[in-house]
Amino acid sequence: MTARILDGKAIAKEIEAELIEQVADFVENNGVAPCLAAVLVGEDPASQVYVKNKRLACERIGIDSRLHKLPATTTEEDLLQLVAELNADEEVHGILVQLPLPAQIRPSKILDAVHPLKDVDCFHPENVGLLTQQRPRFLPCTPHGCLQILHRSGIEVAGKHAVVVGRSDIVGRPLATLLSSKESPLGRQNANATVTIAHSRTRDLPAIARQADILIAAIGMPRFITADMVKPGATVIDVGINRTESGLCGDVAFEAVKEVAGAITPVPRGVGPLTIVMLLHNTLSAARWQER
Ligand code: NDP
Repeated sequence: MTARILDGKAIAKEIEAELIEQVADFVENNGVAPCLAAVLVGEDPASQVYVKNKRLACERIGIDSRLHKLPATTTEEDLLQLVAELNADEEVHGILVQLPLPAQIRPSKILDAVHPLKDVDCFHPENVGLLTQQRPRFLPCTPHGCLQILHRSGIEVAGKHAVVVGRSDIVGRPLATLLSSKESPLGRQNANATVTIAHSRTRDLPAIARQADILIAAIGMPRFITADMVKPGATVIDVGINRTESGLCGDVAFEAVKEVAGAITPVPRGVGPLTIVMLLHNTLSAARWQER
């Protein structure tokens, strides 16, 4: 049996259509559009594409966006200065500092400096703390995107065993928090999983992965999850984006795994489009709080 393909691009379009209406209402009620300031330091080609796609998406749904492009030689002090200016700028509702940053800049210094109410990536310790205490202000974009895919595809999470491979602060760890929470903004069925977090020091990863009803790969290694690591009928969410000589691919060996899984996200057209749309969702939330 071949798996159902979970079309992230189509789901993102559906959410975008909802956001277009919500943003139009916001503009009508407040007389201003939500505004996202994107900060791009250096010339990393992937980062340039991500920022461009985020700004195009802003344009599609009626959110203003500003780009602050800084040279790779920017100092930590200069970047902190820009963040302070954006924090103080009442026209800016959300601040996005595109990662990775050049080596001379400590990401934690910068991310900690973003005003928590403008922290649309949900990286600030205050927002991570609120998330961990199960009373989130913002939901982190990629993990929220994964939940939206499951929810809008009718795949219940409650009571299932979810195995998250990867424990980064951006994807694996917050996603595990959300999946194991008691509540979800999308309903209790979209939370309450039993969650295992796996990583590079996990012993016998294939055996653990095979226990998953929902297997999430957030590793950064092309086609790492193979068919023998997947329980027949499981849902497989592939967060990975890897640039290889043969083009973009995920962390899952898609062609083989789709013959075993019950449902699977492709790469591209999987989680990626959701990450962008959830960023815009957070920008609208940030604007609502600040224009109250
Ligand atoms: P990180 O490099 O920060 O984390 C990777 C995680 O994978 C780590 O926890 C690491 O373990 C684990 N890992 C590495 N090798 C192995 C292994 N052999 N076995 C088991 N676990 C392993 O990456 P990110 O979380 O930032 O990103 C993961 C992937 O998701 C990347 O491909 C990235 O491009 C993609 N991504 C996609 C997004 C989207 O919108 N679709 C958004 C963000 C990221 P350890 O902690 O022990 O080192």
